[in-house]
Amino acid sequence: MKITEFVKGFMISVNTGIQHLFRKRMTTMYPETQNYPTLDMYAYDPRKGIAVSGWRGRHYLDMTKCTGCQLCYIACENISEAIEMVPLPETNYPQNKKKIFPAVDYGRCVFCGFCVDACPFYALYMTPVAELSEYDRNDLYYSPYELSKPPAVNPTPRAKEKIDIKRGVYDER
Ligand code: SF4
Ligand code: SF4
Repeated sequence: MKITEFVKGFMISVNTGIQHLFRKRMTTMYPETQNYPTLDMYAYDPRKGIAVSGWRGRHYLDMTKCTGCQLCYIACENISEAIEMVPLPETNYPQNKKKIFPAVDYGRCVFCGFCVDACPFYALYMTPVAELSEYDRNDLYYSPYELSKPPAVNPTPRAKEKIDIKRGVYDER
């Protein structure tokens, strides 16, 4: 490499670095991104046959709609076997005569969303809740009751996302 090319490349690099010193950050990093600015959940509309974009964290199960059809369980069977159908004889939901509901093992789930796509009864969604780490492996298992708790909006968002038409999303702080 000629010395002139080296110097030219070096100057371009330095110039690019200096320019970025005066620009706002384009990326927000964890945990700043964990502000759940919306509760848009990943969903599937079986009537229209389309997926509805949204977050893909832990699931939300609407027990008032789940029929116990097991299609979510079957969808997951060849992916990660994260879903188990759990009998809950104490429940009394008229649409679920078998009284079985899905539970999810987040030690196995890969968050693909296929189980949501497979649900024909608008009973299964994925929420923005992605902070799922546990010290005990067993705590990664979410029963149907735990899945049926709706997520809460974070009251103190830590990032202020703005959109720059040319450059994309940036953190306004
Ligand atoms: S998101 Fe994918 S891996 Fe997780 S439970 Fe659903 S089908 Fe299984
Ligand atoms: S969540 Fe949906 S797919 Fe799974 S058992 Fe219930 S109704 Fe069937």
